[in-house]
Amino acid sequence: MIRSLRGRTEFTAVFFTVSWCCAMPVCVLPASTTAAVALRTQWLSVGTDVRPALDEIRVSTLAPWFDRSLAALTGFQISVRLRQADRAAEYWNDFSDHYPMRQIGLLELAKQHAQGGDTAVAEQLLSRAISDDSRFIEARRIRASLREKLHNYRAAAADYEMIAMHIPSDPTAIRDAQTMRLRAAVSQEAASPIEKPFAPSAITAAPLPLAVSSSPEMAIGISTQDNGNLLRVRSYRFSVACDFSVTGRDGKPIRSYPGGTGRIYEVTFTPAKGHISLADRAAGRTHLLPTQGFRIVPSTFSTFSIDSLTTPRSTLRLNRIYRGVLEVFPYRGERLILVNRIPMDAYLLSVLPAEIGADKPVEALKAQAVAARTYAWYARGSCFHKTFHLCSGQHCQVYRGVAGENDAVRHAVAATAGEVLIYEGRPVAAFYHANCGGMTHNGTETGWSRAPYLRGTIDGPLADVSFNDHAALYRWYLSTGSYYSAASQYIRQGQFRWVRVVTRREMSRHLNRFMRIGELKSVSVLKRSATGLVQAVKLTGVYKKTPVSFTVTREHLIRAYLAPGGIKSASFLLEYDVVADTYYLWGAGWGHGMGMCQSGACGLAERGKNYVDILTHYYPGAVTSRQYGTPPSECVSDIPAVRAPGDSVESEDGEWLMLDFGDEIHRVVEQADETP
Ligand SMILES: [Zn+2]
Repeated sequence: MIRSLRGRTEFTAVFFTVSWCCAMPVCVLPASTTAAVALRTQWLSVGTDVRPALDEIRVSTLAPWFDRSLAALTGFQISVRLRQADRAAEYWNDFSDHYPMRQIGLLELAKQHAQGGDTAVAEQLLSRAISDDSRFIEARRIRASLREKLHNYRAAAADYEMIAMHIPSDPTAIRDAQTMRLRAAVSQEAASPIEKPFAPSAITAAPLPLAVSSSPEMAIGISTQDNGNLLRVRSYRFSVACDFSVTGRDGKPIRSYPGGTGRIYEVTFTPAKGHISLADRAAGRTHLLPTQGFRIVPSTFSTFSIDSLTTPRSTLRLNRIYRGVLEVFPYRGERLILVNRIPMDAYLLSVLPAEIGADKPVEALKAQAVAARTYAWYARGSCFHKTFHLCSGQHCQVYRGVAGENDAVRHAVAATAGEVLIYEGRPVAAFYHANCGGMTHNGTETGWSRAPYLRGTIDGPLADVSFNDHAALYRWYLSTGSYYSAASQYIRQGQFRWVRVVTRREMSRHLNRFMRIGELKSVSVLKRSATGLVQAVKLTGVYKKTPVSFTVTREHLIRAYLAPGGIKSASFLLEYDVVADTYYLWGAGWGHGMGMCQSGACGLAERGKNYVDILTHYYPGAVTSRQYGTPPSECVSDIPAVRAPGDSVESEDGEWLMLDFGDEIHRVVEQADETP
């Protein structure tokens, strides 16, 4: 094991030490490790009580605050394990102000209270942890069961539904949610939104500024899942705010229909016959439409609503309102594809609320408008999809129609109308993400792009952060700092720093959904970039009595594999607690970390920076331009001859499907390493 470290970088060796020393009698730590980190590592790997030495650090006025807090956290965990509540409380006071350390404290305290029968207090402690980080799934899972004990079935159901949303491959959560809903109904709790009868909303939207409506037309796939895959749509219901006409895909008029809120139409595709029919329910008549597809064209530039989409397995109630034209056509004789044709800047009015939130500072909204416009232009030229320019999920840019739009969004889009980021005359690959955790990453590190403007940059006024230093890694991941993307009135704590607590058994079960690893034996970080991004993880296990190992190098797969529901980013510190047989993952940021950091954009705007400052900070070398630059090549064909990768993956969970990589999982798992 030690021999295998030869030739690796220092920080790789450090990570081997942290994650492997569980199996070794003595840990070998580099000189840069502080005493607090060394003691914590010793406790994690051997399990001995090191509290006397931790206390020396904790009470020393000479020790830095971080070392004192880390000593207190470790002392707290030891005390909890030894069931010494008074000692645990003493330690808790010393680190409970420090995020994300206190997340583990809240989780452990809640478990103690729950075991002692103090269910209500335990529930409150977990609620504190979840309000800081809604994706702290371990805390949510326990809270759900506590709420059940407290007969708060509706709240328990909401927790289970949230878990099911994040872990669609886990059938127990959705089953538990249904059970809770039933119990809520029996106990006459208030009806949940899910149980309310469905009613389409009024299909209106604010008028468009002229600058917005005159931008180039985009084709947005709106019958797609979050991961970009096509839903298997067989029928859908819609309404149109004003009278509308149905035309061929070439624009040739076919028939006119009356519109208005509440006047519902239904389009049905019958694959066996190749028929597409349009039912006018109010008039009680049905017409056949062209088999190659058609368009729904409002008589003025108005709105239409997609009320629901029906697949062979389920009906998704969308109730989403869109501007522009709806184009519909069959795909491979088995499903309908719905495409919204809409001017670029009108499209952005709906992207901004879904991607960054309409409540953000206006300069951040303007930066987001330019980044999203540029990304859309870039995606259009990159042919990510065959039958439309962008999908409506996270795969491209989230697009949910006009809901969420407000005056600030309209102002941000209109004020930057037509403005894109250019590098050497071409639109840049304007990747962006929710939160960089204080450091953005290089495009080359994720293997996504070699573009010079996608380079790792520190997200704050400080200049010197090292990921080679063991103690520095602890300080980075287990504390917060004054970075643009740190918690603020716009940013929750859990977006900037997070922790996951996953037992080896849970991780093992989770991994076996993706690969034949059998019983997980160890997880180790093999490689880390200069900006902290974990670039290779080694998983070893025993499958049917045979040792196996996998090396995972893709950023999105590392995120998908290492915890149920995935982890927020691939920038994390991995610890293994040998006695609890549990992994702690301490992470920074949310998303891939390349290009613009949305939280950081808000932080810069709060510090008085304008949108150009923000964009040039995150895309160094790119410039804004009031034109669209070199037009991208047109990729969209009418009906593709070749099946697009990923299209075959069917999951009917629709918009809630997160981190579902379908077939790709099996392609990547990845290199099954040679094992002795
Ligand atoms: Zn897409």
